[in-house]
Amino acid sequence: MEENIDDEHFFYAYTSFRQSKAVFECDFPLPDYAPILVEKMNWFSGHKNWCIEKVSNTVVDIRFYVLDDLKISKKAFYKILYQKMMSSDWIMEDGFTESKKSFIRGFIECRGSVDTTAKLIAQDYFYDDRTELKKALLLTDLMDLPCEYANFNARDLQPQFVAGIVKRNTQFRINAYFYANKIGFLNDYKAKVFDNSYPTRGSKIADKITYFSVEIPTPKSNSQFLSYINFFTNNIYERSLNEAAIKQLRKQLGFKNCDASAEKKKRNQTIISLYREISEDKCAICGTTKTFLNKNTGRQHFEIHHVISYANGQECDNIANLVKLCPTCHDSLKKGATSKAEQIRKIIKILNEHSEIYEFADSYFMLGDINELAEKVWEHLK
Ligand SMILES: [Zn+2]
Repeated sequence: MEENIDDEHFFYAYTSFRQSKAVFECDFPLPDYAPILVEKMNWFSGHKNWCIEKVSNTVVDIRFYVLDDLKISKKAFYKILYQKMMSSDWIMEDGFTESKKSFIRGFIECRGSVDTTAKLIAQDYFYDDRTELKKALLLTDLMDLPCEYANFNARDLQPQFVAGIVKRNTQFRINAYFYANKIGFLNDYKAKVFDNSYPTRGSKIADKITYFSVEIPTPKSNSQFLSYINFFTNNIYERSLNEAAIKQLRKQLGFKNCDASAEKKKRNQTIISLYREISEDKCAICGTTKTFLNKNTGRQHFEIHHVISYANGQECDNIANLVKLCPTCHDSLKKGATSKAEQIRKIIKILNEHSEIYEFADSYFMLGDINELAEKVWEHLK
């Protein structure tokens, strides 16, 4: 999404793609296809905002413009979008639903390209701050996209990113066979690129989406999920896991179960276990590092607290919403356990000292002011 400053101010989303070597120009002329794609995108979006920006034999660029009549910043616009999404019904439905697939198509096909040899659909994902990163994680956290078929290939540790102010870039990649079979292509040109690059046993079109009959490979162990975990730890927590911790997490993985709600539950437990592993053993309120020794882990015992209670919805089972507390402080944050003023003071301390929690709560409640935010978090205590 970009900003465009003219007389009037617009936000726009765009998709642009180039002619692929896998498709002969005369078999699929892009100037003929562009208006068809625009019509299709408008049909799916429910608005008529998509229009052709540029089209030639080698490139298509189409855009969805939104007039900024509220005169808000790009950041505020994103926030509203995020909030709207998080409060919609479809996002909390269990399973890999049509609505979720539709969202994924919008995300993947607008930016991603079909790699004609690596069996992947890949896209570069650029971000300026860690909040953006967390939004990317929506794909695996909330869309029920099986982690073993998708991964984030973080490039943050490359020297040019470590050294400078250069925007960080991460590649988001999804298995092309899984995509072609389970999610399906909206963009017929990209479907054609896939068809010409990989062996298939035919295709079918249902509700304007093209699905291919292909064998989906069995993922190799949990390597994809491990890359997801590394992504979390390297980018969000800037901590690396030791071998024993990885081994333990590996044991908890293995999303082979087809039952979506069981899989989701398991994933959430994994997020909590992951947080337990990577975060420092220190109470986020009183600061103590000593409680008692937990014999199973060989570490000091701390409890994991959801800053916005998980009873408020699935989206609260997010790693950016967790802190470690000692048992005494954890009890003191139960609804009605101590005075409101005392609890608010503790919540403010957590928000002040944990930027990722602040960002998460800020996106959740749409309140930037720390006092208002703490008040809201307090109202949602369980
Ligand atoms: Zn404490």
